[in-house]
Amino acid sequence: MFENKAVFDYINECEDSVRDIFRKRDGIALYNEAKVLGAMQRHKLAERHFTGSTGYGYNDDGRDVTEKIYADVFGGEAALVRPQIVSGTHAVSLCLYAVLRPGDNFISMTGQPYDTIYSNIGVSDTCRNKGTLADFGIGYKQIEFTPEGKLDLQQFQELVDENTRAVFFQRSTGYSMRTALTIDALKEAIAAIKDVRRDIVVIVDNCYGEFLEKEEPCDVNADLIAGSLIKNPGGGLASSGGYIVGRSDLVELAAGRLTMPSIAFEVGAMPSGTTRNYMQGFFIAPSVVNSAVKGAILTAKALSGLGFEVFPKFDEARSDIIQAVVLNDRQKLIDYCQAVQFSSPVDSYVSPEPWDMPGYVDQIIMAAGNFIQGSSIELSADSPMKEPFIVYQQGGLTYEHVKIALYNAIVSLKLM
Ligand SMILES: *Cc1c(COP(=O)(O)O)cnc(C)c1O
Repeated sequence: MFENKAVFDYINECEDSVRDIFRKRDGIALYNEAKVLGAMQRHKLAERHFTGSTGYGYNDDGRDVTEKIYADVFGGEAALVRPQIVSGTHAVSLCLYAVLRPGDNFISMTGQPYDTIYSNIGVSDTCRNKGTLADFGIGYKQIEFTPEGKLDLQQFQELVDENTRAVFFQRSTGYSMRTALTIDALKEAIAAIKDVRRDIVVIVDNCYGEFLEKEEPCDVNADLIAGSLIKNPGGGLASSGGYIVGRSDLVELAAGRLTMPSIAFEVGAMPSGTTRNYMQGFFIAPSVVNSAVKGAILTAKALSGLGFEVFPKFDEARSDIIQAVVLNDRQKLIDYCQAVQFSSPVDSYVSPEPWDMPGYVDQIIMAAGNFIQGSSIELSADSPMKEPFIVYQQGGLTYEHVKIALYNAIVSLKLM
């Protein structure tokens, strides 16, 4: 174990040099843990809430209290937290389908949305005539970041019209080299948008952003946010599901889209064990996210020290858990993902290969040896196979696991 002493010593030196940054991250985790704990106590979370429900799921107090706690922690009036929301894509798309009506248009402020969400808009051919937003007569406009990497509010002023019903932000970088949208940047942009028209609905794809900062998008006036429970807020324990939080009338529209307008929130069984699983995961999520973020910071420090360009840099502000490393070489990218896979607790003996993943444009290579399929709050690395061969790494249920994987990657790529 750790036979390559030079690599091990190097990683420990890197760790020592980022202690002050780690201390700041610990402060954010402490604040968020207190927030979650406070909400669980205020809403009197109790053992009886963990029973689960069957059939229609009428009068499921456990489900209701879970949604109250989510709304409270994420700064909204109401929440929908359900195993029937199958993924982050489903949660975010539900928000769009909930709010937009034929003749409306919406504007993405953060460039092209995440691949699987973009396909639902109907601009690309992938899902046309299968019920995309375009099929329903909903228009779409997209604003790129300025060359300095800022939100382009000038462009917004030019593109907004009387049919603009919603504005969309993606907090996380996704597969791009920009840094994540900070809550401060979001706050300023939302204020400017609401200045133009108060009734524009601000929707934020909050995937990977939860618990990165002390505030969440609804705290700075986002109307609707959505994310996946097999990412940050599930704490690595939630075994599937998604959430939506925001203004109660809008969350109700989303509930009406998930089920049907006539039954909205009132139905949807929580299979036995689900509520405990969600609440226990939410309880540890601030700490798990902190481990993942510290792992990302260590990775950025160590790999930039070995000459690779990284996004974000180790000491930059973070608003998601993704660490991008520009490897500039197809084989290095494959080797890196394989090193992460070989460092996994599950499926450590399999070797990831690039493949055509549904909903994505380029071939994707994915390393994920997870307890929960596709969970990316667990340590995972994935990348589209294209120049300049950037690996996107995220997650880590424990800091130690990320550190072990980093060691194995540096040894396997013979970086020193
Ligand atoms: C993961 C992710 C999604 C989609 O989530 P899935 O659960 O994979 O469907 C959407 N947006 C962003 C920014 C993401 O990171």
